[in-house]
Amino acid sequence: MKVRIGFEIHEQLATRTKLFCTSPADYRDAEPNTNVCEICLGMPGAKPMGVNAEAVEGAVAIALMLNCEIVQEPVYILRKHYDYPDLPSGYQRTSMPIGRNGELAGVGIWEVHLEEDPGKYDPVTGKVDYNRSGVPLVEIVTAPDITSPEEARAFMRELVKVLQYSRRVRREGGTMRVDVNVSIEDGARVEIKNINSIRGLYRALKFEITRQKNLRRRGKAVRRETRAYIEEQMITRSMRTKETAEDYRYIPDPDLPPLRITPELVERIRRELPEAPHQKLARFVEQYRISRDDAWAITSEPEMADAFEQVCTQVEPARAAAFFRHIIKKTLNYHNLSFAESGIRVEDIVQVLRAISEGRLSQQAGELVMRRVVEGERAAEVLREMSRVDEQSLVSAVEQAIHQNPGAVEDYRRGKQEAINYLVGQVMRITKGRADAARALELLRERLS
Ligand SMILES: [Zn+2]
Repeated sequence: MKVRIGFEIHEQLATRTKLFCTSPADYRDAEPNTNVCEICLGMPGAKPMGVNAEAVEGAVAIALMLNCEIVQEPVYILRKHYDYPDLPSGYQRTSMPIGRNGELAGVGIWEVHLEEDPGKYDPVTGKVDYNRSGVPLVEIVTAPDITSPEEARAFMRELVKVLQYSRRVRREGGTMRVDVNVSIEDGARVEIKNINSIRGLYRALKFEITRQKNLRRRGKAVRRETRAYIEEQMITRSMRTKETAEDYRYIPDPDLPPLRITPELVERIRRELPEAPHQKLARFVEQYRISRDDAWAITSEPEMADAFEQVCTQVEPARAAAFFRHIIKKTLNYHNLSFAESGIRVEDIVQVLRAISEGRLSQQAGELVMRRVVEGERAAEVLREMSRVDEQSLVSAVEQAIHQNPGAVEDYRRGKQEAINYLVGQVMRITKGRADAARALELLRERLS
């Protein structure tokens, strides 16, 4: 049975201010309902300021990275009406398409829009927090070109990567929301809402496809409806039968003139567009002479790719690549962190790689150092601590120094105090500088007294 899957993806744009007012777009450290003004609270009579230009540029950049055509006609801002406590004005503002007819990894990108985020309603407590209300979102609508949960997962990973590479979206994570529509053999389209991770998306699709197939096997029709994904139970549950576009009573917002995206603006954004993940991958293979697999692992995140390039100014690229792919990726997976979140600095990587190449550190020990870096320590400190020789090795180094330098021992015993400094120097030489000099002096004095 032929499965067709399409997405509507919403992600917050990393702008300074909200879409129609000057309240900050980053509300993460704010107390509930403090990051607001009369505009984003939808107060009667409050009129929106113009559309945030930074948000428009962000949506255009993302549309270009998704290979869309940018719409040259006036782009109206529409009011989409629905009643829910998270929406103080009773409508959500959403733009007509800014980009159209794009493509990513073989999947059609139908439209890219700008939209405002609603507030956050907690149905359990009945409380609403409007800090998020009015934050700019980019909305991406794909063609139903995907045919399995596995393909859906692979596509979403690629899309998330492109969004991160655009550097126009929030990097804190957890702000992406996906609505998925699924149909089987031209049956009714079911929309699943409330998905906010790729793992959740995969599980929701697995469940929903099985549910629809079972209905059909029993000769029952699949109803056109909207279902919610319930994360804890890994199931989807009916929310409402599907609204049609008329239910939302879309009208152009009379307070806002339509956007005009000039060819000059599009050209400027296109010129400044960051490298796309697949372009960076190809360049890494070519420029650093590393394998495609290494380059693929390193370019999985823009921050990691940047760090790699900086490390390569000081370390041989092939060794750096192996370390990134096998040690750093493994450490991040173990802690379930992205590179951006990990706190790893370029200097940490360089110091560990140098210690390994100079034979001061084994590969395995290098991995342990990276773990401690991720847990908040700096590589330099960890390396210093790890390199100290233990007491037993120090004692045997002292014995060796005494044994090998009878002349100095003789001088010291005759009262020539500085001879002991020479012996300390010999202990440092034997331990390749890893001994604690004060402790070595102490041990020598004891041993020679
Ligand atoms: Zn505001």
